[in-house]
Amino acid sequence: MFHRPISIDSVKIHKFIFKTIIVSALWLTSGISWLGAAGADSAAQPATPYEWHVVREVLTGDSFKLDTGTQVTYSSISAPPLQHADPKVREYAKKALAFNQELLLGKKIRVEFGSQIKNEDGVYQGFIYLEDGTLANLRMIEAGYAKLRIIPPNLQHAKELRYASGHARHDGKGLWEYENKVVRRFIYMADKMTRKFHFVGCRHLRGVSKAHLEKYESSVDAKAAGFQFCAECRHTYAQETDLF
Ligand SMILES: [Zn+2]
Repeated sequence: MFHRPISIDSVKIHKFIFKTIIVSALWLTSGISWLGAAGADSAAQPATPYEWHVVREVLTGDSFKLDTGTQVTYSSISAPPLQHADPKVREYAKKALAFNQELLLGKKIRVEFGSQIKNEDGVYQGFIYLEDGTLANLRMIEAGYAKLRIIPPNLQHAKELRYASGHARHDGKGLWEYENKVVRRFIYMADKMTRKFHFVGCRHLRGVSKAHLEKYESSVDAKAAGFQFCAECRHTYAQETDLF
């Protein structure tokens, strides 16, 4: 077998090399696209999730700028705003900013996107990873310097963020130290006949027999017992329990 024509194997190898070149080319073009096209089209698919950038400037407790000049904000969390009517909230906003600076400034990060790569203001939003694998969004929540703001369809990490937020709140970390003090503690009365629960004082409780009422110290417990939150009371709750 001195002379051998092109074998099946070498045809396969040629096909493989060709495919590899095409795939690499696609990967490279997608890799350089997302930050270069800032603001161009929000529908564009993000790059490979392993595009590393350096954080040049930290703007707030939940936003920063990359070396490319592109602004990025954290997905699923919200830090206290630097402009707020309550001076104590402004104070926590500064602390959140300082914490975020410590976490990100001058560091190499990569952005993991959800399917909605920009927020309602047209700013890139994502989950921020440091080189050591730290998920910065989670660190902000754990430290109590941000609250949850989970908006579909970007639901990745929702479970661990919720878990961390519950702990931070319970332990009075960061802004919770203040918010746990100032936000009113409520007692709820659940009406066994209507299966709804209310704040004490709600007009819908007038004339209801005490025998039909059950007392709860948290809305979570009332819901777990199968009661629904009265729509009027829930509206009040939303206004009176959140500082920002
Ligand atoms: Zn009510």
